[in-house]
Amino acid sequence: MASTLPAATGFLAAVQCDGGRSPGAFPAPRGADPAAPGAVFASAGPRAVIKARPGGPGLDAVLLHSGAPDAAHAHRRGRTVLLAGELYNRDELLTLLGAQAGPVTDADLLLALVDTYDLHAFRLLNGRFAAVVADGGRVLLATDHAGSVPLYVSAVPGTVLAATEAKALRTAPVGRRITAARRVRRLPGTHQVPAGTVLEIGVATADCTDHRTWAPTPARRIMAEQEATEAVRLALDRAVRARTGPDTPLVVLSGGIDSSSVAALTAHHRTGPVDTVSMGTDLADEFPQARVVAEHLGSAHRELTVHTDDLLRRLPHAVWAAESLDPDIIEYLLPLTALYLRLEGPGRRILTGYGADIPLGGMHRENRLPALDTALAHDMATFDGLNEMTPVLSGIAGHWSTHPFWDREVLDLLVSLESGLKRRHGRDKWVLRAAMTDLLPHETVTRPKLGVHEGSGTTSSFSRLLTDAGVPGDRVHRAKELVVQHLFDRVVVDGRHPDEVATADVVQLVADALEHDALPAHP
Ligand code: ATP
Ligand code: MG
Repeated sequence: MASTLPAATGFLAAVQCDGGRSPGAFPAPRGADPAAPGAVFASAGPRAVIKARPGGPGLDAVLLHSGAPDAAHAHRRGRTVLLAGELYNRDELLTLLGAQAGPVTDADLLLALVDTYDLHAFRLLNGRFAAVVADGGRVLLATDHAGSVPLYVSAVPGTVLAATEAKALRTAPVGRRITAARRVRRLPGTHQVPAGTVLEIGVATADCTDHRTWAPTPARRIMAEQEATEAVRLALDRAVRARTGPDTPLVVLSGGIDSSSVAALTAHHRTGPVDTVSMGTDLADEFPQARVVAEHLGSAHRELTVHTDDLLRRLPHAVWAAESLDPDIIEYLLPLTALYLRLEGPGRRILTGYGADIPLGGMHRENRLPALDTALAHDMATFDGLNEMTPVLSGIAGHWSTHPFWDREVLDLLVSLESGLKRRHGRDKWVLRAAMTDLLPHETVTRPKLGVHEGSGTTSSFSRLLTDAGVPGDRVHRAKELVVQHLFDRVVVDGRHPDEVATADVVQLVADALEHDALPAHP
């Protein structure tokens, strides 16, 4: 039953009190065929319409699927579960179900767990998912611990709409304010479900209660060096194995310690070679460093060069996919967006080393342990809503990406380690480097961190684009923020396709406005 991609990678769902009246259940996109539900996604892939009438409120949904849409939903006794994404601790979860255990889909498994644990079931899951449970007069909207599959909601009395992309709700009726959730810029009444949360919404009233299912621990564990490195190795190894799937996996490889660790562990468990790919631009690349790792592992390796002009032309696509307003995050995601768009062929399962720096404090280049722990605690408290792990980034090219460093067990372990294990013997991310010494070349294990936005020249080429347009050096970051906001307004709020949006036009608009001080410093 294993397949390369999860059964569903996204959805738009409507739960209605009156049993649902499709197609009117969905917000219709302007100019759309009224017979076709109005789901507009950046993610590519076939769609299926499902209608569940198990008694109680009806659930209508458009599923973005990978060939077996029925595997993404399950129904029993008036309860319907809809799942985009996948679970990584299936074996553990199956032990809870005892005699019922068997080859079940993740949606079946979740339904059985909700039958037993109600919404506390979400506290048991280690996964990359967004889920809807329609259950009698209420609906549960749930994210994984990291909110790695974004989930949005718009609710009015009688109708709850939920979608894995905000743009799918842009023509929805203005929803009630949900205080437990973050409002989405310029989409009144649309909110993003926080990471590690179940929103429990009464369909008739649209009243909402939030339940946290995960939070980063503030406590720190003391471990001996060897104990810590063994624990990291074991946890990461499990996380990689849970993510590799039946076909040859593809690792996006920079030659940095994070992606090299993932590639090494992926290769370690397979008899045949794994696939690896690196991207670079005409300005900068990490090709030699990635090649060292690829040769060491014997992977089938490719190098893709994206011209800087083409890279910057993909800015609207990165915003369209990530629906993020943070210009730094968009800079991290842009090279990956450009890379994914260059990967032709059928949908691939892609493993990345993304996110290791957050629990390990890798990007802070900080020697003082209290400052390192403060920075790390801050990053863990503020990642939510940035959408940097979203599967839509690769989904726009029909692929499914997954990030072993943000596996719940790996993340819990890495966050909890005392900071002296992260910065040690003069190295950043020491515990990870030490955990991987036997599987990677020495030069890779000791290689200093280089961010994806640096190694590809993305930050400098974006800055250059702005200064060339007349933005003064000290306003470049502000200009980037405004460019991202404008792009968000066009491709998310206005629903335009990113191919129709020219980065250069938006950059000029922002540069002119900054020159004439037509924009407030902080709107
Ligand atoms: P380090 O943080 O030590 O540099 P890293 O390069 O693996 O390790 P990041 O720089 O944080 O990690 O980049 C995040 C992830 O994005 C990488 O783990 C990798 O999966 C992917 N990535 C980054 N740069 C490239 C690249 N040039 N080509 C392909 N994938 C990349
Ligand atoms: Mg790097």
